[in-house]
Amino acid sequence: MTMMRSGQVQPERFAALKSALEERRQAVGEEIERARRATLADGEVGDFEDQGATESLRTTTLELAELDRVRLAALDDALRRLECGRYGVCGECNGDIARDRLIALPFAVRCQSCQAAREKAERLAGATADLRSGGKVGW
Ligand SMILES: [Zn+2]
Repeated sequence: MTMMRSGQVQPERFAALKSALEERRQAVGEEIERARRATLADGEVGDFEDQGATESLRTTTLELAELDRVRLAALDDALRRLECGRYGVCGECNGDIARDRLIALPFAVRCQSCQAAREKAERLAGATADLRSGGKVGW
């Protein structure tokens, strides 16, 4: 641990982060399981329910479960990066992710400037798509 880089996670912080991530991971896992059971239970009592309401409830539950799966994947990813010493390192430029940024966004995978560049590119792509669909409507 003598070759620790400036942005690297300190051992005591590593342990705290790891247990926080694992706790969160377990909570999300339980949420997914609950949502799955609720969806299954809905199917069994569906005959007497308003089909439309049941269907929209099921859709919402599934969407939430999907969101939880995304969160779970982000948590797994953060844990993996923590374990192989890549946590806090930008996935694009390999630079250190600022400490403040990690505190605000524990799952951040990019440094501030790479994230900003990416968001800018996404906004540009979105604007181009808007222009294209807008153009279509006009024709
Ligand atoms: Zn970067």
